[in-house]
Amino acid sequence: MTHDTAGTPAVSAGPATGPVADFLAALAGGGIEIVDLTNRLDSSTPTLELPAPFANLIDFSLETVSEYNEPGPFWKHANIHTGEHIGTHLDAPIHWITGRDSHDVADIPLPRLAGPAVVLDFTGQAAADPDFLLEVEHIKAWETEHGPLPDGGWVLYRTGWDQYAADRERFLNADESGSHTPGVSAECAKWLAEETDIAGFGVETVGIDAGNAALLDPPFPMHHYLLGVDKYGITSLQNLSRLPARGAMVVVAPLPIVGGTGSPARVLAFVPKQ
Ligand code: MN
Repeated sequence: MTHDTAGTPAVSAGPATGPVADFLAALAGGGIEIVDLTNRLDSSTPTLELPAPFANLIDFSLETVSEYNEPGPFWKHANIHTGEHIGTHLDAPIHWITGRDSHDVADIPLPRLAGPAVVLDFTGQAAADPDFLLEVEHIKAWETEHGPLPDGGWVLYRTGWDQYAADRERFLNADESGSHTPGVSAECAKWLAEETDIAGFGVETVGIDAGNAALLDPPFPMHHYLLGVDKYGITSLQNLSRLPARGAMVVVAPLPIVGGTGSPARVLAFVPKQ
């Protein structure tokens, strides 16, 4: 690392000026913090559990092939076994029947996966009622205080549910009447899909719909409406408490699985430090 005469950090191989140089200078100088919004992946990572007769995906696991031993004396490597919709993951349009003719996870245009993020904090409501559903009026009240939802950006719905992400039972919060985790009403899902220009919607829970969204009309309305209009979902986010209501940028990075309906994704937020 070298420094120019103004004291601004400069990367020797990079451009001296321009928007990327400014961004890199802010990163190097501590003006921008990177926050990881991703749940760590292992065999205990909580995943959606559909009731019978529906079929579930496999959990994530590692299968060691070599470990500095006879099959590979100098190296260690493993096969990964995983469903597409495991841990922090992206839902692509073809995941849902309403989006079946749209993008797979490999074909999503990159500008839709990097952009501004806003955080809507409904932690208090979700703590009081685990079946809390976000309504259009909640978002409009948020917009009155914080400004409009960002065109081409991501709405991140904070419910405090990330505190349970290491405890599968608590995270899914299921009993004989279903799974009780917060979500979005059918009317609000339709509004987000049809009346806004957001690229996607992120949640802290195991899926983008409420735990009991099979009972809504239509069933699983976030999947139904959002994926049907080429908007995307991201689940099992962490650390939204470290983001401002607006002003952060997110990069959502799913694997480009050809024909994939989704993928585990690394989600990074770039947050201006005050
Ligand atoms: Mn999914």
